[in-house]
Amino acid sequence: MPEKPLNHVLSGYGTTIFSTMSALAVAHQAINLGQGFPDQDGPEDIRAVAAKALMDGPNQYPPSQGIPELRQAVAAHNARFYGLKIDWQTQVLVTSGATEAVAACLLALLNPGDEVVLFEPMYDCYLPMAQLSGATARAVRLRPPVWELPRAELAAACNDRTRVIVLNSPMNPTGKVFNREELQFIADLAQKHNAIVICDEVYEHLTFDGAQHIPMMTLPGMEGRCVRIGSAGKSFSLTGWKVGYITAPPALADIISKAHQFLTFTTAPNLQKAVAYGLAKDDAYFTGLAAQMQASRDLLGNGLRQIGFDILPCQSTYFIAADYSAFARGGEDDTAFCKRITIEAGVAAVPFSAFSMSAMPGGTGTLPQEKFIRFCFCKQDSVLLEAIARLRRYLGKG
Ligand code: PMP
Ligand code: GLN
Repeated sequence: MPEKPLNHVLSGYGTTIFSTMSALAVAHQAINLGQGFPDQDGPEDIRAVAAKALMDGPNQYPPSQGIPELRQAVAAHNARFYGLKIDWQTQVLVTSGATEAVAACLLALLNPGDEVVLFEPMYDCYLPMAQLSGATARAVRLRPPVWELPRAELAAACNDRTRVIVLNSPMNPTGKVFNREELQFIADLAQKHNAIVICDEVYEHLTFDGAQHIPMMTLPGMEGRCVRIGSAGKSFSLTGWKVGYITAPPALADIISKAHQFLTFTTAPNLQKAVAYGLAKDDAYFTGLAAQMQASRDLLGNGLRQIGFDILPCQSTYFIAADYSAFARGGEDDTAFCKRITIEAGVAAVPFSAFSMSAMPGGTGTLPQEKFIRFCFCKQDSVLLEAIARLRRYLGKG
């Protein structure tokens, strides 16, 4: 019998860099500053609501679009933080994490032959899901160290086949928060070419130093062509829960909910109930979370700088980018360096090349020459201090 191929897109991909580095960290008892997750669980009151709802039930299929309570809470959250007027019945959809939201959006909005514009460095699931939809991806690489938007290049990447632009702001792994002028430039292109912008805003509440997160959806004329994605994982330090939420104009919410009904159909009811409770928490909760994260960024960033890493600016997220040129052995690439420090120093990080389209199957472009790695700082002070001490001992500086 002749071999029959399995799916040609997925066959090209291996295990994600996050799983790979977490497994290596476990194998070598390294402190895991690779995969992004807090080492302390989110608020006890939110977890208590989930626990009670689990025992009280019902524990059967909730409505595919999400329980009314959570959809109403998402609409209220949009109004409270961004002044958006959202109809919870036609414009809100609950998903099993932002990952499912991204997948459902790309599968629902793209046809073979369409083009999708992605910004590099890019989060790992965008390209494979765009490829599965049959669309062609074009990457536009932001320029370090401040991850500047190359406007002429972006304009050249957009054309009338451009159906979707994926915008991740605040951005993983760079920690960049797009400012209003940048957002307006992208919005103008989306309007010119009649494109939809999928806005991955999972780090919306984790901005530092007064940086303001502006949802693209709030820009004039953009509410009808933006899909906004949030995640309880990031807003409540509960990454294992995988509860995401989409806000979109009714026509887009409708087609995305069709993708969602065939992907997961729904999401655990007790977790939805608890996230609805969480979204209604007072402002002090959200500002407190950002302040705590900013302090962790400073603690790790300062420690790494003293050791001799060149630290890039970071306005948001869980992540700080470091240039490891001072420590590279010969032409050592970022993956080799991350593996070396995991095994030999006992601290895991993630290589930036994992976020480059050129390193992904079917990806185009050339691998950037910079030597950047990503450290995750959403950890307890004692853990960050121990990581700094281990790196200092191993790298012999500071
Ligand atoms: N988008 C970005 C930019 C992320 O960093 C992550 C992961 N944390 C996700 C989406 C996925 O979020 P979730 O865990 O809710 O699926
Ligand atoms: N978003 C997390 C990160 O960037 C990883 C999530 C995952 O492992 N899929 O580290």
